[in-house]
Amino acid sequence: MFLVIEMKVNLLEPYGNCIGVSKAINKLLEARNKYPDKNIYCLGKIVHNDNIMETLKQNNITIIEEEPYKALDAINDGVVVFPAHGMSNAIKEKAKNKNLICIDATCRYVNHSTNIIKEYLEKDYDIIFIGTRNHAEANAILSLSKRIHLITSLEEAKSLNLSTERLFLTNQTAMSKYDIKPIHDYLKEKYPNIVINKEICAMASIRQEKLYEVLDKSDAIIVIGDKQSNNCTALYKIAKSKIKDSFFVSSIEELNLDLLRTKKNIYVTSGTSTPTDLVINFVKYLEKN
Ligand code: SF4
Repeated sequence: MFLVIEMKVNLLEPYGNCIGVSKAINKLLEARNKYPDKNIYCLGKIVHNDNIMETLKQNNITIIEEEPYKALDAINDGVVVFPAHGMSNAIKEKAKNKNLICIDATCRYVNHSTNIIKEYLEKDYDIIFIGTRNHAEANAILSLSKRIHLITSLEEAKSLNLSTERLFLTNQTAMSKYDIKPIHDYLKEKYPNIVINKEICAMASIRQEKLYEVLDKSDAIIVIGDKQSNNCTALYKIAKSKIKDSFFVSSIEELNLDLLRTKKNIYVTSGTSTPTDLVINFVKYLEKN
């Protein structure tokens, strides 16, 4: 006799593109309408999602994958778009000096975080920035001043050796709130006068909280999103911290359905740059199969 296990697929809300990503994509498509005859270059991935990037390519928008400052050497006319997670001032200046039409698609949460850092630099603070090495947002922040110290882990926090008492601690917008907490606690003890400012964007943190809430009742968790996305990686780390059968996939083809056959309660979550229709189709497919 075969035991048939009924699988329940639960889609966690919110899902689909966040406001920052949607606006950035709209800006690119608007640019295509406004400048139908011009070359349009997106200086880096506008979002970390291969499906959206494909749509942009179909609209004849060139996605620049190499280092943007250097890439500008070969761009002599047309429109350049600065992606959602920011761009260094040097790159912006270079584009302007080449008389390129510049469109800034930086998300307002990233601008907010950047402005607070500038404010504390002006007040003569050194900045400790928790982020991801070589991420566009971290690169843009680091370009503001040599007094910004990037750390990516608690271990790196432990090796900091700063002599100033004027320290401001903040982070990249799509970090995991559960990852940065021990770093905050450690640095508060090491530098009692440090000013701590959490800058996780609400769109990313609500997904982390919702996922955290269901860990105790999950048999398996699927995170849908691009492996290069910081906030998807944060979701996967949260899932994996408690649920062994956690899967991080960007498409249904990457998922081995056989691994889910014995699972009763499956939760599905997705990053802020994972398109809505991809998530919905994914869940429909799981329910049918
Ligand atoms: S995840 Fe947050 S910071 Fe990043 S683009 Fe979306 S709204 Fe902006």
